[in-house]
Amino acid sequence: MIFSEPKTARMINRLRVLNCIQQLGSASRADLSRELVINKVSISEIVLQLLEEGMVEESEKTSGSIGRRPTPLRISRGAGYVLAVDAGGANTASGIALLNGDLVRFQRQPTPAFSAAGEKTAFITETVRSLTGKCRDPRLIKGCAVSLSTDDHEDLPGSQRERTLQYSAAAKSISQAVGIPVVVDSSVRSMLLGEIWFSDLPREESVFYISWGRNIKAAVLSQERINPVESEFGHLDIGSGLPCRCGKKGCLESSAAGWALEQRTGALQELLHGKNSGSADHSEARTLAASASRAMGTAAAAAAAVLCPDRIIIGGGLSALDDSFYRIMNETFGQKAAPGIRSSLVISRTALGERSGILGAAAAALDTFVYKRRELYALTAAGITLLQHL
Ligand SMILES: [Zn+2]
Repeated sequence: MIFSEPKTARMINRLRVLNCIQQLGSASRADLSRELVINKVSISEIVLQLLEEGMVEESEKTSGSIGRRPTPLRISRGAGYVLAVDAGGANTASGIALLNGDLVRFQRQPTPAFSAAGEKTAFITETVRSLTGKCRDPRLIKGCAVSLSTDDHEDLPGSQRERTLQYSAAAKSISQAVGIPVVVDSSVRSMLLGEIWFSDLPREESVFYISWGRNIKAAVLSQERINPVESEFGHLDIGSGLPCRCGKKGCLESSAAGWALEQRTGALQELLHGKNSGSADHSEARTLAASASRAMGTAAAAAAAVLCPDRIIIGGGLSALDDSFYRIMNETFGQKAAPGIRSSLVISRTALGERSGILGAAAAALDTFVYKRRELYALTAAGITLLQHL
């Protein structure tokens, strides 16, 4: 890409303006000019184009008694939609998001058991098709992102390359069937992207993100980039000696993954929903969850020694466990963490709650089909300031 090419520069600045409006929620032309260091004439041209495209709209002018107040701009609610599907091992969530990021429809259903290859893709295709039917104007659908957890144990062992091929084959097949652009990515990477988009995560922080659900996956954000390699964190040997589905022994998953806990207790769901029947099953589930929390703390300490993150965030179904389990996790983490790890580094729960999965898919769709924020950040790293005076 030649940055100095006027067409390329205009395209990039258009995206920067669009991203800035989305991130600020509302911004005047003067705000944009100041934030992006682009002159007012260029900003006005870009905004005019975005208004004509229907991407942004002028919100009501706040008329002050003294002088003219600038007109705030925001992403138009009628600009279009993106579709999001988070196909997890236990549940599949699906939703429709407006381009300003608002999730306007959200539903969850149990993921069926698949017996033959291709059934999962067929199931996701049907889910996407049903979403397209719920959009008032399907022509305004910009694209669909599918988050896939490679959690079926038959997917293991699979190399990163095999997974990437699997994702792009699934995307192609779903896209051809429903007639809209589709992107498929790993669930945990999308969840981390969702955390960046929808919570107040400082952009420059490095994050170790753990998806704790039926399986345990992790992703790393460092220098504003999400590592493209899917972490094998769940199969880190923590020395428990327990057999894992992957065929090894002592993996974190065998002590803490949803599949392992469900094999040993019938009261896991009760625990996750904050209910207490007072039964022996319940106290057994608490004991198991406490030991799972210690295992998570141990594994997180091992990862932190290598990655030295600013934050460790946990999302996924089991992240809903109550605070007492986070205390256990952090206690173990504190005991096991390497000496150089800051004492302020704690493991915390996602701010996005049970929507972390679907918001992750929505973020992936918004990013891929509309805002291209990851590409813009990469350009920033490459010296986008060159563009500011074009
Ligand atoms: Zn394993």
